[in-house]
Amino acid sequence: MTKRKPRTNLVHGGTRRSQYNEVSEAIFLTQGFVYDSAEQAEARFLEAGDDEFIYARYGNPTVRMFEERIALLEGAEDAFATASGMAAVSGALTAPLKAGDHVVSSRALFGSCLYILENVLTRYGVEVTFVDGKDNDAWRAAIRDDTKLVFFESISNPGLEAVDVKAVAEMAHDKGALVVVDNVFATPVFSNAIELGADVVVYSATKHIDGQGRALGGVVLGTKEFIRKTLEPYLKHTGAALSPFNAWVMLKGLETIDLRVRAQAANAQALAEALEGHAKLERVIYPGLASYAQRDLVAAQMGGSGTVLTFDIAGGQEAAFRFLNALEVVIISNNLGDAKSIVTHPATTTHQRLPDDQKQALGITPGLVRLSCGLEDPEDLVGDVLQALEQA
Ligand SMILES: *Cc1c(COP(=O)(O)O)cnc(C)c1O
Repeated sequence: MTKRKPRTNLVHGGTRRSQYNEVSEAIFLTQGFVYDSAEQAEARFLEAGDDEFIYARYGNPTVRMFEERIALLEGAEDAFATASGMAAVSGALTAPLKAGDHVVSSRALFGSCLYILENVLTRYGVEVTFVDGKDNDAWRAAIRDDTKLVFFESISNPGLEAVDVKAVAEMAHDKGALVVVDNVFATPVFSNAIELGADVVVYSATKHIDGQGRALGGVVLGTKEFIRKTLEPYLKHTGAALSPFNAWVMLKGLETIDLRVRAQAANAQALAEALEGHAKLERVIYPGLASYAQRDLVAAQMGGSGTVLTFDIAGGQEAAFRFLNALEVVIISNNLGDAKSIVTHPATTTHQRLPDDQKQALGITPGLVRLSCGLEDPEDLVGDVLQALEQA
């Protein structure tokens, strides 16, 4: 069979049909599987084949459909689905590491990712060095001969700083270190992370993959060797399995993700252009704007500019709160990648507990607002943001 294109794989990839030949994928809401004989059970525990299941904590047919479909999209050999994005991040970091290992990570991270690196791994004897992720010289200086793993968000939350995936992966591979990338802001649609050298890619499926605010989920993608030999033993015994129902939600989400993410990115571009230079804004950050500092890098390493923009409202937190409270279409929440446009004030919510000096270093100023663009008509979206800015 000729190699199919991503959009075809997003609707057909990984499909398994039962004896009823259903069109829409079945939800196999079962934790266990019946063996024909004691001998078959014994053989399966010795080694389960590709489509042989034992227990839903290890794998399940609906979950497997989701894993195969997202692996096809990412260009990864294999995938393991998890109960949330954080189960994916913590599994991908904990499974390959042990006490005494050295890790280099960018500092501009989602709060829970930072917690895993700063508070969890270190408690078990892993040494972590944090760097400014956009500074290739800082990576070069920090990655040592004994570095086991590097970790970063390819585009950071909420500052939208990009890491040069190819350059950092080359430096890490020179020292034999594993490259683990949290790719949520790049989105599975615009990602080329594996092609650029990432060994392991992690997504919160809660974001663009569901994209409709329904379920938590996550996934780790990588080589068959990493997923089956390193990650699976850790995850199947520690129990962060994705429920078959949520896997089905994510599977159906993949069928429309390409259309949704491209439309959301077009809305983000339109909004960023409408806001740039606005009198009430100190700055607008969006990788699709000419003023974005790392525009060439993002254009070279991603198939699009993403669905999230951030802007700094003149007048600090008070003005930002007036703006949030005046919005009528855009809702105040903290998810992103959703069909509904969502606004967040990072300094008082997602990044509330960061010390002030770290907030400053990451550009999380009192006036900073993060806006995840949804699927509304761009006229309504832009109109709503502009009217709310008048009230800021
Ligand atoms: C949301 C998010 C996560 C965590 O995902 P959950 O599904 O909420 O556990 C991890 N990394 C990034 C960059 C995120 O935005």
